[in-house]
Amino acid sequence: AELDTLDILVLGVILLGTFAYLTKGTLWAKQKDPYANAAYLNGNAARAGKTRNFVEKMEESGKNCIIFYGSQTGTAEDYASRLAKEGKSRFGLETMVADLEEYDFDAMDTLPSDKIAFFVMATYGEGEPTDNAVEFYEFINGDDVAFSQGGEDAPLDNFHYVAFGLGNNTYEHYNSMVRDVDRLLTKYGAHRIGNAGEGDDGAGTMEEDFLAWKEPMWAALAAHMGLEEREAVYEPVFGITVREGLTPQSPEVYLGEPNKMHLEGAQKGPFNAHNPYIAPIAESYELFKVKDRNCIHLEIDISGSTLSYTTGDHIAIWPTNAGDEVDRFLRITGLTDKREQVISVKALEPTAKVPFPTPTTYDAIVRYHLEIGAPVSRQFVSTLAAFAPNEEIKTEMTKLGSDKDYFHEKTGSQLLNIARLLEHVGNGETWDKIPFSAFIEGLTKLQPRYYSISSSSHVQPKKISVTAVVESSMVVGRQDPFRGVATNYLLALKQKQNGDPEPSPFGLTYELHGPRNKYDGIHVPVHVRHSNFKLPSDPAKPIIMIGPGTGVAPFRGFIQERAQQAREGINVGRTILFFGCRKSTEDFMYEAEFEEYKKALGDKFELVTAFSRESSKKVYVQHRLKERSAEISDLLSQKAFFYVCGDAANMAREVNTVLAQIIAEGRGVSESKAEEIVKNMRAANQYQEDVW
Ligand code: FAD
Repeated sequence: AELDTLDILVLGVILLGTFAYLTKGTLWAKQKDPYANAAYLNGNAARAGKTRNFVEKMEESGKNCIIFYGSQTGTAEDYASRLAKEGKSRFGLETMVADLEEYDFDAMDTLPSDKIAFFVMATYGEGEPTDNAVEFYEFINGDDVAFSQGGEDAPLDNFHYVAFGLGNNTYEHYNSMVRDVDRLLTKYGAHRIGNAGEGDDGAGTMEEDFLAWKEPMWAALAAHMGLEEREAVYEPVFGITVREGLTPQSPEVYLGEPNKMHLEGAQKGPFNAHNPYIAPIAESYELFKVKDRNCIHLEIDISGSTLSYTTGDHIAIWPTNAGDEVDRFLRITGLTDKREQVISVKALEPTAKVPFPTPTTYDAIVRYHLEIGAPVSRQFVSTLAAFAPNEEIKTEMTKLGSDKDYFHEKTGSQLLNIARLLEHVGNGETWDKIPFSAFIEGLTKLQPRYYSISSSSHVQPKKISVTAVVESSMVVGRQDPFRGVATNYLLALKQKQNGDPEPSPFGLTYELHGPRNKYDGIHVPVHVRHSNFKLPSDPAKPIIMIGPGTGVAPFRGFIQERAQQAREGINVGRTILFFGCRKSTEDFMYEAEFEEYKKALGDKFELVTAFSRESSKKVYVQHRLKERSAEISDLLSQKAFFYVCGDAANMAREVNTVLAQIIAEGRGVSESKAEEIVKNMRAANQYQEDVW
């Protein structure tokens, strides 16, 4: 087609705009996260002073929609990106995704009424904000909130927002973050569009809750802002460039190193969620005495680092995907031959950030940076339908993506990851039309997994113990079990350390030596997360611990600490552990060790066991707890601390109920009064939970 002058002019403007976006994109990406995309650092420091005023930022970048997320494990962040993407492709909204931590909120009252803010808020632990939402929450929940334009009755009258929460109904403070934020925004006069959605991880319906919430929300938002829905067109957020001059051996190419310091071979602290420490594993062994289930004990040596911990903290393990799943992914997407090709990934949107450092290879991205093992989301299936190998497969993908029941019937119960789903639906055909950007957008960044540290910092300050049960569950409609990403990787590490030169737990292989062999000699990338799950400061206080299965992890640390204190002649209070497992002969972990602690603690320590498969009637920890009602009640009146760790879905809730019954009986009060007492114990930290 011929171009006339106007076309050329328009093209020119678009090109200029794209150029401006691109340059800003790299700039912002690196300001946001000092470790991301560090390879692109150029001397443009003059513009580094980035604003913390989001209204200004929106103005600057021509956005009318900002999507804030409060995220701990990446799901809320993922939903925020998906909303941004959908708002743009279906309604032409100019969206940006924003980490709550990166902005101030006093100028909220200056957001013009024709713009919109989304809040995608996960609730963490006991109704707490996620780490990145703490400041925002403290601001909006503060006693003397001061907005930039001062205090009328409804300072946020111009402010319009959309809200979705991610929670877990097995926790008492279900979705309290989104509820609080919604209440507080409304209190200051802001206007919500659509319902405040709530997703429930406890019921396993998070994804469907999200999908069900967003349709009416979009309709309400479209009506409010006068948006017209258009045929959704996929526009990649990331551009991929092949770097002809580079090979995987080039020193500037990332082969899985998490950031520039690691690439250059230096391990420098602070070590945190952006910068792991590659820690040696000092020792590893199996805790179960049964063939088909595994539970691993690890000793992670942090003496070479600035890392520290206190008893009750969590350690994060950064896993590597199983080689077999990496191969499967590359094969089905037609990337096998290109796996070692060096590419750069750049954000085409100024506000998007590339979730890993580049230049890198497809192999490294898939192995170290994308959550390719997680069950695929229905919305992602919808997005990918357009790129199906043929019309028939496209029709099937579209149906799977749009029909909830059909999706669950066909794939839901099988926990298919993305590559398995593509294999399954495409009858083995290669899906080479999917732009790689779609995977970066549609898959979560590979997440570190948290473990309750099972040692005492008083006893071994430079060695962190981990107690991890290997995730392997049989699923209906599938021949092989679902294998957890991190725990099978740990199992392979354990096998290697214990003499197996080519470990392959359940046939899975791993690149255990890490990028450029940096993890050789049995290393694993970790960081520590401090928690509030703590022993009483006075060792003489009695403690009651409920920790079945791997829930025993932090209590091994607690008891190790108290045993040591007893050996040092410190007066230690009564220490009772309720532990449960299937059989005393199979999965009774640390049995011999507990005998040792008993020697040091004498009568102060008691281990109460519940073996669920040793008699016709299933016995669980909560039953044992009930049997000891009188004593528990007595200890609680002596201000004993009460701890629960492990399964959030059933055990923790039932223990809570039993405890209320014990209090009701012991003190002769009604059950509702007893429940209130339990609530107050929680508020006073006398009742602490570490559940997952
Ligand atoms: P993953 O690959 O993460 O899969 C785990 C399970 O999640 C599977 O059953 C799968 O069905 C399900 N799943 C994953 N994604 C989805 C999805 N999108 N939709 C539906 N289902 C999905 N574990 C211990 O063994 N010991 C501990 O001491 C311990 N402490 C913890 C402390 C905290 C604070 C937290 C948050 C968790 C703790 N965990 C502990 C659990 C641990 O973090 C891991 O979740 C666990 O080891 C499984 O990890 P994985 O990578 O092997 O499995």
